[in-house]
Amino acid sequence: MSERETSLTGRMKDGAQLYLPGLQPPARTARSRTKTRLYGLADPNKPRDLYPTFAAVHRELKPRTPLPKIEIRFYAFAHLSHTIRLREGKMLVRISDLLESAPETVLEALAQILMRKLYRKPAAARYVERYRRYINRREMAARIETIRRHRGRKRLSGPHGAAYDLEEIYTELNAAYFHGLLPQPRLSWGQVRSRHNLAHFDAAHNAILVSRIFDHPGMPRWVLAYVLYHEMLHIKHPIRHEGARRRIHPPEFQADERRFPRWREAEAFLKKL
Ligand SMILES: [Zn+2]
Repeated sequence: MSERETSLTGRMKDGAQLYLPGLQPPARTARSRTKTRLYGLADPNKPRDLYPTFAAVHRELKPRTPLPKIEIRFYAFAHLSHTIRLREGKMLVRISDLLESAPETVLEALAQILMRKLYRKPAAARYVERYRRYINRREMAARIETIRRHRGRKRLSGPHGAAYDLEEIYTELNAAYFHGLLPQPRLSWGQVRSRHNLAHFDAAHNAILVSRIFDHPGMPRWVLAYVLYHEMLHIKHPIRHEGARRRIHPPEFQADERRFPRWREAEAFLKKL
């Protein structure tokens, strides 16, 4: 089955989080070419506001539940994918930027599909059919293939290194600092022992890559943990735009960083690498 045909069978993860398959969980960061646009109340460049559509579907599904805050963004996933999740009473929806110019009726169908999956209800066949017809058009198939090639180029060697297992450390950090709630991106050791690029979170591929330099028995585990923790904070604290300025490590990011007990020591260690 081709990629574009698989997008309708979602799976639930972490209770309230849904990823459509083949597709990446959401995130964005420091070092990505990802573009996200917030479709809020007043976006002069994009008059289209998807909030009413999602709110209407929510009212239909959960008439007695107060409407949650709903944040909807178009997102540059590496595949045709959409995500929806509930976090602290807020609904976060990310829709593939491939659908940015889709007709209202298609986005309405998508709202039906996503929200019903979130609440574990089957979507009406007419919505599924409408969505499927749109994404199966030839020009859409060509665009999907193009972004797959451009955004999905990265080869990852996986989290299990010779000395350390990134997944194991991620899970520990997640429990210790994020109540275990941070969604897990792909984790991988980099291809080379880079000293310049120690680690980065790549939102377009939803992956954290860590330099091989840390995969060594002589490398203290807590230093590696600190490096990974920093990248995890990029997932927690997306880049903030203040006018023309991008705040990659805003004050709340830095405050969180200092919750790591040996952060000062770790910084000093990294400077000497
Ligand atoms: Zn950083």
